[in-house]
Amino acid sequence: MIDNVNYFFKSLMNLKGVGEKFFIALKRLLPNTRYKDILFHLPTDVIDRTNIVSVKDASIGCISTLRVKVIEHIPALKVRGRKLPYKIICADETENITLTFFNVKDYLKKQLPVGKNICISGKVEDFMGSKTMAHPDYIVPVEMFDKVAILEPVYPLTFGITNKMIRYLVQEVLKNVPEPPEWQKNPEISFCNALKVLHNPVKDLDVMKKAKNRLIYDEILANQLALALSRKFVKSEKGACVKMTGKLTNPLLSSFGYELTNAQKRVWDEIKLDLSSEFKMFRMLQGDVGSGKTIVAMMALLSCVEAGGQGAFMVPTEILAQQHFNTLKKLCEKAGIDEKVRIALLTGKDKGKIKKEKLSLISEGKIDIVIGTHALFQDNVKFKNLVLSVIDEQHKFGVYQRLSLANKNTTIEKCNVLAMSATPIPRTLAMCSFGDMDLSVIDEMPPNRKYIETKVLGIDKLQEMLTSVKNKLETGELQKIYWVCPLVEESEKVDLTAVITRYEFLSSIFGDKVALLHGKMKADEKNSVIQNFANPDSNVKILVATSVVEVGVDVPEATLMIIESSERFGLSSLHQLRGRIGRGSQSSMCILLHGFPISKLARERLSVMKNTNNGFEIAEKDLKLRGAGDILGVKQSGVIDFKFADFVENYNDFVLAYEEAKNIIDNDLKNNTERWKNLQVLLQLFDYTI
Ligand code: ADP
Ligand code: MG
Repeated sequence: MIDNVNYFFKSLMNLKGVGEKFFIALKRLLPNTRYKDILFHLPTDVIDRTNIVSVKDASIGCISTLRVKVIEHIPALKVRGRKLPYKIICADETENITLTFFNVKDYLKKQLPVGKNICISGKVEDFMGSKTMAHPDYIVPVEMFDKVAILEPVYPLTFGITNKMIRYLVQEVLKNVPEPPEWQKNPEISFCNALKVLHNPVKDLDVMKKAKNRLIYDEILANQLALALSRKFVKSEKGACVKMTGKLTNPLLSSFGYELTNAQKRVWDEIKLDLSSEFKMFRMLQGDVGSGKTIVAMMALLSCVEAGGQGAFMVPTEILAQQHFNTLKKLCEKAGIDEKVRIALLTGKDKGKIKKEKLSLISEGKIDIVIGTHALFQDNVKFKNLVLSVIDEQHKFGVYQRLSLANKNTTIEKCNVLAMSATPIPRTLAMCSFGDMDLSVIDEMPPNRKYIETKVLGIDKLQEMLTSVKNKLETGELQKIYWVCPLVEESEKVDLTAVITRYEFLSSIFGDKVALLHGKMKADEKNSVIQNFANPDSNVKILVATSVVEVGVDVPEATLMIIESSERFGLSSLHQLRGRIGRGSQSSMCILLHGFPISKLARERLSVMKNTNNGFEIAEKDLKLRGAGDILGVKQSGVIDFKFADFVENYNDFVLAYEEAKNIIDNDLKNNTERWKNLQVLLQLFDYTI
């Protein structure tokens, strides 16, 4: 670390007046409590205390700065057992104002003797027709007006932390902040000056804007540079060069029963090229739900087995692991290659001896393909010759995680990586958020897919809808129905109550035709519920579930999806959920139930769902309606978790920074220029460890 950069990483604990208790409260506001973290904690508003107004002109409810003379003290009296506030009557030429203080001792008398001229600033209120100010924010002698006459920054706060405290910390840190070496090419304002201005707002909006823009671009450049570096790092790494023979993939393809779509073919070619090259593959496979990614991933895994290697398939849930395991098994049987491919399912159910046995088979190379949940692979499963790991739902991993993966050297990350995401992301966004990966997109659905009609209904139509569902179940027009229950404030407990209540309600109408599925159930139970629902001959017709069905369940007979409180779901979740139906030959329908009142934005989002089935289109609309963070629905995971920048608003900066980062890698990094050294400071400041 360059010397003066250390300053930014000191702990706020070092500051005078920061004790243990305060520190704990502060942690609620800032997960990291280094000097730089408080500097990056920017004010969201400004209180203007610069204008002195007359008492007469001071508006009720507003923060005002006044110049007044102390007229009279009225000590706190007790009236019928209640203590009244201590009052000080002040006035200017225009009107009186009463300062009120609760629980104060006599020092006010000394501090504010009658006749003294003072400046006060605070919120002016009305008490029975006369103006008052309770506990003014500032009381100073007039000659110290400068102390009051400021544009005061207002910070986001948390319980136990006041604005004053944050201001104190920021100003303490700013006092000695060293200017880091300049990394921008044509800076309009230096890094530290930008911070100083933002924490000490000025009236010149142009200056404020320059300061803000500087930080925004710094943040974006750091992000793009980190991606470019990660990409370069991965690209230059040797990966196992897969010698494909086609002895497994060819039979699989010919027994698949379908022709691959053109998009699948193109993507498969891209993957083949990567796998057979000497460099490591780091590729993202993107495609809408049901576009046929899984089959492509399985081909990739099999081609590695052909070459004598092993493959790992990591998925987010146990249900999905089980499903993929079954699918692959069936496909291999159908293709007559099941004797040549040894597949293992590794889930949380595997414990003790069984787990040990599986693990040793894997490490001896007696298992070719392992399918399991992400978490299991993090326990450092040892492979004999792992050549490819497929990671499903890659969008759940952020840039930070990927950077750390790239540095980690565990077996999984050392090999070729194929990440899959069913969250359609607009191409530009993908470029900026997954710029370190190559991108393959399946932008075409398999033929014979029927358009899923979508209806938006108020919850007041529930009875009507139920009657129709009942009829259609009786006539056999409907076979299997998903009923997704509301997502309540992302609290699992409340979700659980909601889903159970709905289950009981529906059971009272439909009896044992209804089954229940939720996240708190054991993997075993979940599995048997799903298998039962998926079985066309079973009596179970309606699956009431929390959004756990979001990922990967495949039941072709399901032709109706009902989503309750759909206004609470993100567009991408709704789209994922809807993707569970329309998988068979019959036409399907999705009903989005919503509560009341419903906001304009929510209505708009639901109508997006109604108007299109295309995931990419939905993602573009979502981006416009809500901003990038929510599209991915994973702001906190760090996919694009920006402090200053906003993907939509600062889109042009992303494109600029993307280009600049490429240039930097090609020139500055290569020639180890002075600027490259300075840029490393930038990366550090934004926590991209390299
Ligand atoms: P994804 O993983 O992208 O959500 P899947 O691979 O699960 O999609 O495919 C969804 C369904 O479409 C599966 O039942 C699969 O067998 C079928 N499918 C995949 N590719 C094709 C194709 N080219 N033609 C017809 N059906 C296909
Ligand atoms: Mg899938």
